Amino acid sequence: MDNNDLFEKFADFLNEFYKDKLVKAANEGKRSLDIDFSLLEKFDVTIADYLLENPNETIGVAQKALKQIDVGYLDDNFRLRFFNLPPSKDIRIRNIRSEHIGKMIVIDGFVKRASEVRPEVSEAIFQCLDCGSNLTIIQTERMMHAPIECENPACRNRKSFKLVDQKLYDARWVVVEEPFEITEGERPSDLRVYLKEDLTSPKMQNKTDPGNRIKTVGVLKELPRRIKGTPSRQMEIYLEANHVESVETEWEELEITPETERKILELSKDPEIYTKLTNSIAPAIYGLDDVKQAITMQLFSGETHIQKDRSRVRGDIHVLLVGDPSTAKSALMKVVSGLIPRGRYVSGKGVTGAGLTATVVKDEEFLGGWVLEAGALVMTNRSLCAIDEFEKIEKTDLVALHEMMEQQTISIAKANIVATLPAMTAILAGGNPKLGRFDPYLPIKEQIDIPETILSRFDLKFALRDIPNVETDAKVTEHILLSRHFGGEEATPIVDNDTFKKYVAYARKNCHPKLSREAADEIKNFYLGLREHSGEDSPIAITPRQYEALIRLTESSAKIQLRNNVTTEDAIRAINLMKASLRQFGFEPETGKIDIDRADGARATSAQRSKIRIVLDVIDELGKTYGKDVPFDEVVKMCRMQGVESPEEILKKMQQEGIAFNPRPGMISKV
Ligand code: ADP
Ligand code: MG
Repeated sequence: MDNNDLFEKFADFLNEFYKDKLVKAANEGKRSLDIDFSLLEKFDVTIADYLLENPNETIGVAQKALKQIDVGYLDDNFRLRFFNLPPSKDIRIRNIRSEHIGKMIVIDGFVKRASEVRPEVSEAIFQCLDCGSNLTIIQTERMMHAPIECENPACRNRKSFKLVDQKLYDARWVVVEEPFEITEGERPSDLRVYLKEDLTSPKMQNKTDPGNRIKTVGVLKELPRRIKGTPSRQMEIYLEANHVESVETEWEELEITPETERKILELSKDPEIYTKLTNSIAPAIYGLDDVKQAITMQLFSGETHIQKDRSRVRGDIHVLLVGDPSTAKSALMKVVSGLIPRGRYVSGKGVTGAGLTATVVKDEEFLGGWVLEAGALVMTNRSLCAIDEFEKIEKTDLVALHEMMEQQTISIAKANIVATLPAMTAILAGGNPKLGRFDPYLPIKEQIDIPETILSRFDLKFALRDIPNVETDAKVTEHILLSRHFGGEEATPIVDNDTFKKYVAYARKNCHPKLSREAADEIKNFYLGLREHSGEDSPIAITPRQYEALIRLTESSAKIQLRNNVTTEDAIRAINLMKASLRQFGFEPETGKIDIDRADGARATSAQRSKIRIVLDVIDELGKTYGKDVPFDEVVKMCRMQGVESPEEILKKMQQEGIAFNPRPGMISKV
């Protein structure tokens, strides 16, 4: 297309549709104006198409046309930004190919990494060292370009120039990752996006920090990949952003048709809805009813409360599963993370890169310097993150978890980057006990390598135990057979996964229950009773956090029936779940008493008691005569007398687990 033609048409278009807005923008000192692409298309489809195919040229001409319009003072670098492109231009990051290079496209996704906002040179002024004239060179590449030849016809120097001045603009690189709805199970692809000028304003900076979802219109560009400083034939691609908008994500994204809505409303009236939903969670896994009910409540979540003093109380419910190996913890967690939009399953040990929370990493090659990278908990903002092998979480992440689990933000300050990222994420954690097996005779904090400060942040904790039992073993094996090998009806959820997911989304979006006085009193009385019965030697600490947990669970119970009023029944449901959770750790909620062993001081028989517990008691007992270090042989002898068959092995195991150590040859000591 003829450039003059293009120029005239853009001038006409801007005059006709955007004159008023431009005048306003000029008055307000704005640096850009958003142009609705569909209007341009209506005005003249040929220039609209031309813009999509040749964006660099067209935008340049349009910027010039803008200068012709009399609107008052506009910044030299005032930008026209285009939005509302046809859906055919929405390209999935994975499908970006060389054919898209140089074209205007739209991508949608979550910001995973972001560099600092830094000034870059947009125009450099060089002085010719032969004749002294000044030359302005527009800088568009990554490397600074010097003039090739002096413009002074009398000089034409090609060698010596000196940089005398430069104009700067602000720029930032971000890496955008494909959104959750389109990447079920696969690794999401990502793309670098280059933002500059007013797209880096403080407001835009917040919108483009890691964890946010953005829709970006831009021109796909290429850049030679540098291998040890020399440009290579291989190209890296990136999107030079022209327009960026935030996408309000989470639940709205799921398309709920009127038909699905009818189905959801109907389900919510079903008197059996609680069991129906609970039984639809991982039906291939036999039993674990309490755990599954807790998870159902967790998926629906309590309400976030903003108090008058503007402090926030989280609505997200955190659940911890500790237990013996092979009790379907991992299997359950994987299924659950797929029942909620944006949910993820990660292992505390295996998370690489940004880890769980967020990190600042060095990326010299592309993003140039320090970049902020969001970890799993930021990427699952407003959803659920299942963290397996929770006790193996890195120390650095553990520190950030304290903040995250209560305040629901993750703050980071490192190498000039200071940021607070949102992490309103419910945690479903799975962990293995220190000693390999769960021991009901030890308080929970001694059994698992998780600091008590973190433990207390879990609303509900469950101990999954694998105790041989003829009856249940037969049921589990039969269940596995039926669900995997014969028929599979056993493993078919009553509410299918898709409907489940939409039900959860619908409830979380539309339903915001308020506590009634009766329900509140029910919770209060139960909690006060718990506190009264708890003490120093409780196997599990009862803290005000449990009280808040009860409120969250009660609210969630109401949401499951899509109710906004919270009833006493909801409170009782929450209380029963809390009781089930406490009992698993040997805390009897009614009496505050623990197990028979601890309650009346009577010694339980050796068979009942865990062997490690016995060994520990023996060491304590001998300690009375020997002091801290006791003779190994004595311990073995006394343990045998108490019915422990191979105390040597248990002592070895205890050393491996760091509960006991050899202070000197032949002696053993508790840590
Ligand atoms: P964990 O993470 O607790 O160590 P896994 O989730 O890896 O255990 O479970 C081990 C295997 O045992 C899985 O294949 C799981 O499906 C099976 N399994 C364990 N308990 C049950 C159960 N109650 N019902 C069905 N399968 C079970
Ligand atoms: Mg596991």
